[in-house]
Amino acid sequence: MKVRAAIQTGDSQITVNEIELPTLEPGEVLLRIEGCGMCGSDLESYRGATVAAGIAEYPLVPGHEPVGRIERISHDIATLWGVDVGDRIAVEPFVPCGVCDRCTEGAYQLCLNRFIYCCMPTTLGTGIWGGFSEYMVLKPASIVHRVPEHLSIQDAVLFNPIGAGFEWAYKAAGTQVGDTIVIFGPGQRGLGSVVAAVEAGASRIVVTGLERDAHKLELALSLGATDVIKADSEDVVARVVDITDGALADRVVDVTSGSVQPVLDAVEVARPGGTIVLAGLKDQAEIAGFVSDRLVFKSLTMRGVLGVSSWSFRQAIRVIASGRYDFSSWHTHTLGLDDLEHAIALLGGSVANERVVHITVVP
Ligand SMILES: [Zn+2]
Ligand SMILES: [Zn+2]
Repeated sequence: MKVRAAIQTGDSQITVNEIELPTLEPGEVLLRIEGCGMCGSDLESYRGATVAAGIAEYPLVPGHEPVGRIERISHDIATLWGVDVGDRIAVEPFVPCGVCDRCTEGAYQLCLNRFIYCCMPTTLGTGIWGGFSEYMVLKPASIVHRVPEHLSIQDAVLFNPIGAGFEWAYKAAGTQVGDTIVIFGPGQRGLGSVVAAVEAGASRIVVTGLERDAHKLELALSLGATDVIKADSEDVVARVVDITDGALADRVVDVTSGSVQPVLDAVEVARPGGTIVLAGLKDQAEIAGFVSDRLVFKSLTMRGVLGVSSWSFRQAIRVIASGRYDFSSWHTHTLGLDDLEHAIALLGGSVANERVVHITVVP
């Protein structure tokens, strides 16, 4: 059987090839991909960030937010996962080993022997370890979630950004009923954070973005944000002081990439005793003007987060399936495998006159 798959052979180099499906190892599962979401990580990986960081190895099949149907599965694994042939599932990107120190203490995203879909080379085993493909091979230790039939594929793949929202803006931030939360960045993970903050019962949800993000800020308001701030034309700290009557924010989440200003602003807009969650990568930048004494005097908790837990993915799928939110204006593009490089250009904002929020790739 031939499988069409996108293969990244180097930094910013992707081709779509037909590859002969190799024999599956015992316990491996064949998934027919229905769609795979894209996020900022796809752009960073395309440019080479994950290989440079030693997390990924070329050549590889990218795509880490897949939803598909089970095409082939052994009786044992079907029983273990509670699924069968034809079932629709979402796949978590991390495959934990289950036995190392991190796995056994429950932090499986930090598994010492971790296997990450979209990062493993095609030379390893069957090699089809990513979602930008017609089919994908799943390891027996994968963590998968049933996806309800009534969801569009575009809604279904939002399990990933909304799962991130639950993990970072709710779980890591510790958001409680009545809290004020400031979310830096109106991209998918920021929008996912808005949904999670609404679900957590936050009373004020403030989202920052840039002038060019006006459509994303509108979407944030439609999902339940109470205030938006345009960081390139307004003073973020002054606006938060104003909005909260000087009480500042109980929780702050930074999902912006590249800019370090939100980290500095986060320290200022957090109330004494507040929590700051950092989830956006800054290209290894050092932060001039960062004064750690501010954390001490304000008794702040500042933490980094990587990955999303099963609990958060389950909450995301539950909330998407509930129908309580209208995600239609979140879905701006649905593109085929052959348009992957165009999709990446759209994601990078380098295509003129295109408003991009979320892209679903369908093989
Ligand atoms: Zn992603
Ligand atoms: Zn492990």
